[in-house]
Amino acid sequence: MAKLPIVLAPDPVLKMKCEPVVSIDDDVRRLLDDMLETMYDAPGIGLSAPQVAAGQRVIVCDVAREGEAPRPYRMINPEITWRSDENVVAEEGCLSIPDYYAEVSRSREIRVGYFDPDGAAQKLDATGLLSACIQHEIDHLNGVLFIDYLTPLKRNIILRKMKKLKRQQA
Ligand SMILES: [Zn+2]
Repeated sequence: MAKLPIVLAPDPVLKMKCEPVVSIDDDVRRLLDDMLETMYDAPGIGLSAPQVAAGQRVIVCDVAREGEAPRPYRMINPEITWRSDENVVAEEGCLSIPDYYAEVSRSREIRVGYFDPDGAAQKLDATGLLSACIQHEIDHLNGVLFIDYLTPLKRNIILRKMKKLKRQQA
């Protein structure tokens, strides 16, 4: 496994729509492993392909708390097939927008269909933090960031500060 550099916003890579994976091979499995290692190292609870400059529809997440056994999910072509009518508001952050947090309203429960690294079709019912995390990561595959749910004013303040941060790092 290898740690990958995380793309920081604003970056056109984070606005692209990712392509479905057509064959689940060693390259895809390696990408998923590398993404998990990158996520754990950050540390974060979720990561999507565009955040490591890859254009495929794959995400990883693990919302296990410190001290709990890891519960990594490697999802290929994840698709939300059902969502609850009820929404819930929770604070979110993003490894591509470090140090900024904001409240986002999302479906309380979802059902997600995906393929695992062995190519088997899986279904998962998610609620709570896992539900929000999966919705956040699938948004990334469609070029959507959590700050896109904020008012343009708030979003622009964050993006201006991110541009400044990136200039300082360059
Ligand atoms: Zn994110």
